[in-house]
Amino acid sequence: MATSLIRNGTVLSDAGRMAADVLVENGVIARVGRGLPESADTVIDASGRFVLPGGVDAHTHLDMPAGDITSTDDFETGTIAAAHGGTTTIVDFATPEPGESLLAALDTWRAKAEGKAVVDYGFHMVLREFGERTASEVRLLANREGVTSFKMFMAYPGRLMADDGSISGAMRGTRDQGGLVMIHAENGRAIEVLIAEALQRGDTAPRFHALTRPVGAEAEAASRAIALAEMAAAPVFIVHLSSAEALEALRVGRARGVAVFAETCPQYLCLSDAEYERPDFEAAKFVMSPPLRPAPHQEALWRGLAARDLDTVGTDHCPFGFSDPPHKQRGRDDFSKIPNGAPGIETRLMLLWDEGVRTGRITPERFVEITAAAPAKIFGLWPRKGTIAEGSDADIVLWDPDASVAISASTHHMRVDYSLYEGRTVTGVPEAVLSRGELIVDRGAFVGRKGRGRFLRRGAAGAASA
Ligand SMILES: [Zn+2]
Repeated sequence: MATSLIRNGTVLSDAGRMAADVLVENGVIARVGRGLPESADTVIDASGRFVLPGGVDAHTHLDMPAGDITSTDDFETGTIAAAHGGTTTIVDFATPEPGESLLAALDTWRAKAEGKAVVDYGFHMVLREFGERTASEVRLLANREGVTSFKMFMAYPGRLMADDGSISGAMRGTRDQGGLVMIHAENGRAIEVLIAEALQRGDTAPRFHALTRPVGAEAEAASRAIALAEMAAAPVFIVHLSSAEALEALRVGRARGVAVFAETCPQYLCLSDAEYERPDFEAAKFVMSPPLRPAPHQEALWRGLAARDLDTVGTDHCPFGFSDPPHKQRGRDDFSKIPNGAPGIETRLMLLWDEGVRTGRITPERFVEITAAAPAKIFGLWPRKGTIAEGSDADIVLWDPDASVAISASTHHMRVDYSLYEGRTVTGVPEAVLSRGELIVDRGAFVGRKGRGRFLRRGAAGAASA
C-alpha cells in the first residue's frame, strides 16, 4: 500500500483551517490530524504552506470544434496546464451534433479525454432541444453514465440556441433525474439585431463585439432563465455571470425562493472592457461571450462572491490562437467572425488568491469554497472532490502564499500564443500538486503521466447548498 504523509502544513477547507498532517493511502486521504506517524513511503514537509483541496474547474472547453477550427488545448495539454495551476478536476462540455444521440456525443468526448487527461474529468451534456428522445437519453446519462448537468444556450441563434419551451422542458425533465440545467444567459435574438446593425454601419472592429452584447442582453436572459426555473420548480445554474445587473436578477430570484446557482470567471473579476481599446487588433484576444464589462462591474462581482450570491468561479477556458494558429485573425474585417473564447485554465487559483485573498475581498476559506468545494457540491462530486477529509480523493495542493510568479505566454503551459494577463505578477502559487495521491506537479515541473486522469461518474447535481 503506497502511503504519503504531508506534515506541518495548515489544512484549509471551506469550513475552516487547522494545523494538521495528512496521511494518504492508495490515493485516498486516510487521516487528517496532528502528529501522525512518520512511517509513510513519502514524507512531504508543508511548513509555512497551506494544504488545499485541488481546484475543481467546472467550465472548460478542451478539444472543442468551432466550425472548421478547434480550441487549441486538447485533454493532454489542457489538463497539464490545469495541474500547473492547482486544478485537479475539470468538468468539460460534450456537445452533440444537431440530431446526434447524446450518448454518442458522450462517447466522442470520452474518447477525446481517454489516454490523454492527466487529472480527473467529467462532462456536462449540451442540449439543443428537449423532446421524447432527449428525455430518455437524459435518464440514461444521469442514472447510468454519471452525467447530471445539462447546458443550454439562450445565445447563438441557428447554432446552439434553445428556445424557452425546450429550456422549460429540460428543466422539468432533468429535475426528476437529479439533474441540473446550466444556462448561457444572453438574449441571442436581440444581439443578432445589434450585430447586423453594427456591421451595416461599418463598425467592424473587435470592440463592437462588446458593444453589441450589452449588459441588458445578459440581465434579461438571466431573469428569464430564473423565471423558467421557478415555473419548473427546478434548480438552475447560470454560467459565466459577468455583470452587476445579472447578479441583481439572481438576488431577486433567490429572494423568491428559486434554487439558482451562479458562476463567474477570473476574467470578469480581473479585467474590464478597457482591453477592447488596444490597438493592432490585440483587442481580439479578449473577445469572449459575455464580453468584458466596464470596471465597476468587477467590484460588484467581488462583493457578490464575498456575500455568497455567486457560488463558484470557473474559467470558461476556450483558447484560440491569436496569430499562431491565426484563429482570431479570421475576424480582422468583421468582429462577428472572431472565434469567441480565451485561455485561463492555468491561472484561476493564482489570480483569485492574488486579487481576492491578498486584497481582503475574500477569506482563504471562501477561496477554497469557490474554487473547489462549491463546484464539487453543486455538480455531484462531493465529498470525493473539493475537500481534505478522510475518505476523499487525495487531490491536494501545497500552496505557497508568499511566492510570486509573472504570468506570461512565454512560460505558461496552455497551448496558446497569448495570455490575457501578460506581464502581471501574482503572489500565491501552487508549489506541489497531488492527484489521487500521486505527485503530478513539483515546483513548476510536470512529473505526472499522460492518460492517468479518470472519467468521473457524478452524483445528483443542483441539490447541494453552496
Ligand atoms: Zn463556456
